[in-house]
Amino acid sequence: MKKYDTIIIGSGPAGLGAAWHLTQYGNAGKILIIEQHAISSGGLRNDCKLNFTFPIGFPAHCWDPMDNAVLAEVNSKLLELTHAWNKHFGIPLPAGIENAVVTKYEARAQRLGVQFIPGQQVHLGTDGGISLINALLKYLKKHNVTIINKFRIEAASIDIKKKTISAPEENLQYKNLILAPGRAGHTFVQEFMHLNGIKYHDNCIDAGIRLETNIEHYSIVNEYYDPKFYFPERVRTFCTNAGAAYVIQEKYGNWYSVNGHAYSKKHKQNNLANFAILKTLDFTEPIASGHDYAESIAATAMLAGGGKPIMQRIGDFRMGKRSTPGGFVNDDLYQTKPTLKACPGDISLVIPAKILRAIWNALKQLDTIVPGVLHPGTIMYWPEIKMYNHTPRFANDSFMLADGVYGVGDGFGTSRGITAAWLSGQKAASHIVSG
Ligand SMILES: Cc1cc2nc3c(=O)[nH]c(=O)nc-3n(C[C@H](O)[C@H](O)[C@H](O)COP(=O)(O)OP(=O)(O)OC[C@H]3O[C@@H](n4cnc5c(N)ncnc54)[C@H](O)[C@@H]3O)c2cc1C
Repeated sequence: MKKYDTIIIGSGPAGLGAAWHLTQYGNAGKILIIEQHAISSGGLRNDCKLNFTFPIGFPAHCWDPMDNAVLAEVNSKLLELTHAWNKHFGIPLPAGIENAVVTKYEARAQRLGVQFIPGQQVHLGTDGGISLINALLKYLKKHNVTIINKFRIEAASIDIKKKTISAPEENLQYKNLILAPGRAGHTFVQEFMHLNGIKYHDNCIDAGIRLETNIEHYSIVNEYYDPKFYFPERVRTFCTNAGAAYVIQEKYGNWYSVNGHAYSKKHKQNNLANFAILKTLDFTEPIASGHDYAESIAATAMLAGGGKPIMQRIGDFRMGKRSTPGGFVNDDLYQTKPTLKACPGDISLVIPAKILRAIWNALKQLDTIVPGVLHPGTIMYWPEIKMYNHTPRFANDSFMLADGVYGVGDGFGTSRGITAAWLSGQKAASHIVSG
């Protein structure tokens, strides 16, 4: 039986943040990170835009934006993080947005009852993100962290009473276990909580569409890379990618969710931008699981799209027509070329009315704030669904689930972005360090 002081499952930002904190602040002891892929698979390695402004990426149920103590703590940790990454890995310090730009968009947004949040950001791109991951792993290995890649831990192999994990080659023993499996670990998280009697709810989802257009139709990205607008009806812009930007699909069981990423400025540019516009929904009885609801609407999308996400031109949508393959080869009017091979179709056939209405209202407002985004050639992709909907009943505010077991990052609903995931891992680690 191999013994470790702390075992961390998942090498995304939450797992790495925890390991980093243990090596920086504590008499860390032996640390092991286990990752099912060659390197971490979330946003650190896809686009990697780092948001350093609270509450962007911080879910309110874990990080109360109205609590001044939380605000002060998060701001100081974010500042510490920017300086640490700058010192050790040469990551640029975040740049604010020019005052004139903020005033312009704020004034337009306010008139419509829309909130505009200017954020401090650094965009590393997919290539820059992979370099950061490799630098972080190298640093951690140098500080005696053992990392096992391409190895998947099953929830049933963890015994939280004996504090062991049974693995095929060798059993592992831990004093502390930090679970950080991200959104891809949705089933793992659910099984773990069922098996260990940890109460949770998952009645909230974010669902929406991703827009793809030429940068000239969403020129705000030249001034603010990932603009954050909060519309009425709980709709918001999310995860903007621009310059060398691509729409991608991620597999969840039998269905795909679209997403996006972009390379850094060093990469060949395609002058496209894509971003999500998402609506948050909370369910009450009789729907118990947001996850089940998400799966059912995603299944309808796969049915209509022949197993693929659906894409539709804004021009077709406005005329109440489906998009056809022919509408994607006309370079004259419909000049935005899709970067994802989705199925041309009619999104209004498969999006629940409440979601579509709220998103279309928000898009019309966005088009008033950033004129051009509703160009007839702009492409809408459906579905984009965010699987960070577990809200466990934590034993304390350091994300402890049971004695010596912590659940952090997107998989446990403590974050919705890279920096928040990192800080949630750090929070669990600091509880371990403080004994
Ligand atoms: C395509 C994409 C682009 C994104 N872009 C951005 C962005 O630019 N900026 C931003 O702030 N956020 C972005 N996000 C969101 C961001 O990735 C997440 O908020 C963040 O990565 C969550 O961190 P995490 O550590 O909780 O999970 P993850 O980063 O998902 O890491 C979890 C890790 O655990 C591993 N794992 C899961 N289950 C197991 C298991 N059973 N055994 C072993 N290993 C396991 C996974 O392979 C994964 O590497 C993006 C997300 C995606 C999917």
